[in-house]
Amino acid sequence: MTLPAFRVLQPRTVEDAVRMLDEHRSDAMVIAGGTDVIPNLQMRLFTPRVLVDVKPLRELAVIEFSARQGLHIGATATLTHILETPWMRDKFAVLASAIGTVAGPLQRNMGTIGGNLCLETRCRWYNQSHFWRQSLGGCLKKDGDICHVAPGGKFCWAAWSGDSAPAFLALDAELEIASLSGTRRVPLREFYKNDGMDRIALARNELLTAVHVPAHMAGRRGVYQKLRVRDSIDYPLAGVAVAMEVDSAGICKDARVALSAVNPAPMLVTQAGESLIGRKWSLELAERVAHAAIQTGKPLTTSGSTPVYRRDMVRVFTRRALEETWKNGHGSA
Ligand SMILES: Cc1cc2nc3c(=O)[nH]c(=O)nc-3n(C[C@H](O)[C@H](O)[C@H](O)COP(=O)(O)OP(=O)(O)OC[C@H]3O[C@@H](n4cnc5c(N)ncnc54)[C@H](O)[C@@H]3O)c2cc1C
Repeated sequence: MTLPAFRVLQPRTVEDAVRMLDEHRSDAMVIAGGTDVIPNLQMRLFTPRVLVDVKPLRELAVIEFSARQGLHIGATATLTHILETPWMRDKFAVLASAIGTVAGPLQRNMGTIGGNLCLETRCRWYNQSHFWRQSLGGCLKKDGDICHVAPGGKFCWAAWSGDSAPAFLALDAELEIASLSGTRRVPLREFYKNDGMDRIALARNELLTAVHVPAHMAGRRGVYQKLRVRDSIDYPLAGVAVAMEVDSAGICKDARVALSAVNPAPMLVTQAGESLIGRKWSLELAERVAHAAIQTGKPLTTSGSTPVYRRDMVRVFTRRALEETWKNGHGSA
């Protein structure tokens, strides 16, 4: 599979980059590590005339933590750089756990956090060569008018298949987004649109510049559990992130549970916090939250595994992640 023709523009600053995006709008795409963009270009999933290469923008590669400002990770920081930051595992256990499961070492060396948070949604009917897709007449997301996952409908169910987003959701993260008109901050939970075709609230002339986690989230216990075909490299078929604060008596003071790969968006299990706060660990309570998780996740035939199995694994992972985090103090600082 060969690449289509395109021009690569190399901005020197963020201002340069947003000016280029503004100038070329729908003809342009951002490329960072390229680990998702390049295979998708080879499959002809999109054919931009211009790629704006932001990876060399060193100003966006900064990783910082302070007790006042919290965690700041610039969009072009690589996943390996994040994992190798000495205090990351202690302060943001769920994030280190999730990022450690992304792809394999080569993709983590190249791949950036900005690219991970802006991934394309994935579906077995979409992530295929042009030749393969053409034989079926395309699909709603590309070159067709039918959804092969839910043939009667007009909604695209392609799944959000990134691993860091649920961890950041569990940490109440915010994104920093730049455009010609300045910078805006948006809570991560408002960034994902739960629509396989129109996945994120980011205009074509905007650039994700950083992700922030509030300081009070530092030191939370947490873990990410993931289902995939090959543990060495694959995208998630289901993922569960848990982050919680537990006091010395073992009582949960605050908690978030978030899911990946079972909806067109990564999602918080909204009932989880209410059920857990003020409670001590019990298997019955964990089962109740696991039940809420499977009501939030709606896996369909978007990937190689069956919806029933993935749904069941969301239940198992939620229970296990709560047990590891709470009972065994996994990820405690
Ligand atoms: C074999 C293989 C396995 C993989 N497995 C996983 C996995 O298990 N889990 C997982 O999460 N990912 C997986 N990936 C995808 C990928 O490696 C990572 O998600 C990586 O972090 C993407 O970052 P990138 O910099 O390479 O993104 P790119 O490919 O450069 O970009 C990805 C998307 O984000 C957009 N983008 C990038 N940066 C910005 C920005 N600053 N502002 C606005 N838009 C931006 C691009 O336009 C594009 O749409 C896998 C990839 C491969 C090839």
